[in-house]
Amino acid sequence: MKAIVTGGAGFIGSHLVDALINRGDEVHVIDNLRSGRLENIHPQAALHIVDISSRKVKEIIVRIKPDIVFHLAAQADVTTSEQSPDIDAEINIKGTINILEACCLARAKKIIFASTSAVYGENQKDLLSEEDPAAPISCYSLSKWTAESYIRLFYRFYQLPYTILRYANVYGPRQVAKGEGGVVAIFMNRIKKGEPLKVLSNGDQTQDFIYVKDIVRANLAAINNGSGEIIHASTAETTSINQLISYLQQIHESRPKTINLVPRPAEIKHSCLDNTKAKQLLKFTPSYSIIDGLRETYEAEVLNEK
Ligand code: NAD
Repeated sequence: MKAIVTGGAGFIGSHLVDALINRGDEVHVIDNLRSGRLENIHPQAALHIVDISSRKVKEIIVRIKPDIVFHLAAQADVTTSEQSPDIDAEINIKGTINILEACCLARAKKIIFASTSAVYGENQKDLLSEEDPAAPISCYSLSKWTAESYIRLFYRFYQLPYTILRYANVYGPRQVAKGEGGVVAIFMNRIKKGEPLKVLSNGDQTQDFIYVKDIVRANLAAINNGSGEIIHASTAETTSINQLISYLQQIHESRPKTINLVPRPAEIKHSCLDNTKAKQLLKFTPSYSIIDGLRETYEAEVLNEK
């Protein structure tokens, strides 16, 4: 199979590239290295350094003629999206439209899109289903939801097959200790440096943390399954920030200091995604427990902001 991974130099994309190459696929990475790193990219992958918002990306995709396009390239930082919503929209919306047009021209068999649990906004339901309404509370999640809508329209207009995977909170090696999504990487970095952990509110807020290798498996499962669907890639289990700190204490073998801060306006207090649909349609169940995933992450090098 010939695959393109946009964002293949980034945290999640680079793990996906490794897995595709291990399967024997021909892999092309499209990335402008905005937040991604050259050292993340598997040496057997062909790298195309190009902006997904540019016209050039279409020419490259048409020339490659991929079977599958995994579209992960994005501006994925909430704070940046609030400060520069235009840049966020340029990459996440216009960039996605470019990739969709190119997929149609190249007659790709499918696009698999990296979306996010953040599209549900402040919905406090214990377990969110794919049928629950999207109600973004950040420019980032609005741009991802808009990209989802374009993907569904391109199917309607041009029959471009797709699977939209809404990821829970992903953690693992190569995640950069920066921004909001990366609480595990940020905490690991501070623990290793002996610095206190900054906890928003009282630490009771919960997340559905999923290990990056499980997200890769969900993407691979979507190659032949789940067409025309929005599907959660999640564990359907919650971990509070306080529980996360106690797991990290177990792994690090000492109690980190904590500082409690007030939450920001775009903070989501509780998020847990039902994964019944992924089990049924993708035959995907996460294989890592949080403690095993955290242990593997702890053993890896922490990457700081570029
Ligand atoms: P990341 O920042 O590590 O990866 C994004 C990649 O896209 C980087 O390599 C970056 O250089 C590239 N990129 C950015 N702008 C580009 C542009 N204009 N042209 C070409 N390449 C560009 O982020 P990540 O955490 O690996 O996220 C990957 C995808 O998963 C994103 O779409 C993100 O929205 C989604 N996602 C991530 C999480 C999470 O917890 N990390 C959760 C839900 C969804």
